Amino acid sequence: MKIVIADALPDSSSELFLNNGWEVDAETGRPIEQLKLALSNADALMVRSATKVTTELISAAPNLKVIARAGTGVDNVDLQEASRQGILVVNAPGVNSISVAEHTFALILTVARSIARADFTMKEGRWEKKSFQGTELRGKTLGVIGLGRIGQEVVRRARAFEMNVVAYDPYISEQVAKGLRTELLSLDQVCQQSDFITLHIPSTSGTENLFNKNRFDQCKQGVCIINTARGSLIDQEALFDAIKSEQVAGAGLDVFPTEPPTHEKLVRLPQVVATPHIAASTKEAQELVGIETATCVHDFLTNGIVRNAVNFPSVSPEEFSQLQPYSALAEQLGDCLAQLASDPIKGIGIRYYGELAGTNHDILVGAVLVGLFRSSLSSTVSLVNARSIAEQRGIEIIESHSSRPRNYTSLISLKLITDSGERWAEGAVFEPGEPRLVLLDGVEVEIPLSGSLVVIRNDDQPGVIGEVGSIFGDHNLNIATFALGRGRAGAIGIVNIQTNGDEPNLEVDNKLLKALRDIKAVQQVDLVKLK
Ligand code: NAD
Repeated sequence: MKIVIADALPDSSSELFLNNGWEVDAETGRPIEQLKLALSNADALMVRSATKVTTELISAAPNLKVIARAGTGVDNVDLQEASRQGILVVNAPGVNSISVAEHTFALILTVARSIARADFTMKEGRWEKKSFQGTELRGKTLGVIGLGRIGQEVVRRARAFEMNVVAYDPYISEQVAKGLRTELLSLDQVCQQSDFITLHIPSTSGTENLFNKNRFDQCKQGVCIINTARGSLIDQEALFDAIKSEQVAGAGLDVFPTEPPTHEKLVRLPQVVATPHIAASTKEAQELVGIETATCVHDFLTNGIVRNAVNFPSVSPEEFSQLQPYSALAEQLGDCLAQLASDPIKGIGIRYYGELAGTNHDILVGAVLVGLFRSSLSSTVSLVNARSIAEQRGIEIIESHSSRPRNYTSLISLKLITDSGERWAEGAVFEPGEPRLVLLDGVEVEIPLSGSLVVIRNDDQPGVIGEVGSIFGDHNLNIATFALGRGRAGAIGIVNIQTNGDEPNLEVDNKLLKALRDIKAVQQVDLVKLK
């Protein structure tokens, strides 16, 4: 076997291969033509983030069986091409969580005790004992935004400092929070109660500038903000102003919207402690990442064991292509219901009807979960890792099937179980392979599962449709499809505002949603944005 290691990895990454008598080519930073040559007879390629694993590189490696990314994000690997060529792609998610959690506490303590500033004065030969009165962490409230892998490690460490911990994570189950002895609150409540707020959520369109002027105004005066997640979560100018006005007492920042940071005024403030995106940069994390990825490569090449895969469907290519339209349906149903659920998901029930009853359900469950987690998780959720992610997040999966075809050859019925009840959706595939919603919360309502959907629940009385139509008109939005269904608890109307796929960027703004919610007979309005 030949392993090419294209980026700098610790020596320990190669040991496993060398012990097996395999060839290891670990020359880093070489020109692409030389790398292509090295790959021409390689079985595995290991990279960090520097090497871009493009179609060109993959095409030059006809024997390649596995690409390993020593780290979490796989943005530098062309997943589609790798999958098309049947090459397994693996990564090492979460291996650096402890390092990031420890750095978070390094920042919290540095801010609370003015360590960096005090050190600076010492280096200048000054002894300013009186200028640096700090605050204890004991008894203070730490607000953790995002209770994923890193957030959970931060909570565990906060206990050792005898801090009270509250958290905001709309996607995590109450059970996981209970296990951490942490109270789940709304974002507003966390902001109002916390002395320190630490961010551990992914960067998405929904979390961009989550911490802005309004948010800082809602916080307890004198709060300290720590960010080791992503720079885009904080409006830099708003943080600068909030520190200047003493609404925010200090900040510890490891990440910035652009790196190196362009908002230099913020970084230079004495109340700000800044580090150059090094939260995960520890010897241990690098070693662990290297060993973890090398073990995955080794196990796959020797025994075919698949671990940490981000692209692997465990079915034959023929079966995979038959299931593909239903897998797309399952993913859209999962995404749609996740956006409609207002509480953390405790469980999901999936029932397959008709021809689907006898197929490989792993793919379909995986697809439901990929959709379910799409807008909430930072790591790549794929068909292979989706089940274990659900398990880690305390989500129970109940599957059942019936060969009864109902009204469609095949149908997927999905229920989300949350603290406040159930959300239920059913979907089918229409020609030519189009996923459609056919039932929502017991009400038959048929609409393509794509684009932006405005879901309106209202009392079943005359005049509502007219009012809804005029509001869309007033906001200059063309209704592509309007589906209506009636049930015992009222009517459900769903408006699809994507027109022929030509205008995918139509913005349904809050004003429109508010206007719809103001209609007297309307009970609830939700916006669902699908791929
Ligand atoms: P994770 O996917 O395990 O956890 C993310 C958590 O955020 C999930 O529990 C999810 O439910 C929650 N979440 C998603 N959207 C939310 C929202 N709008 N409000 C509240 N909660 C929300 O991710 P992780 O591995 O814990 O990583 C957390 C962050 O840390 C990511 O942004 C990641 O990119 C970043 N990170 C930074 C470094 C660094 O070097 N500074 C290293 C690793 C990870």
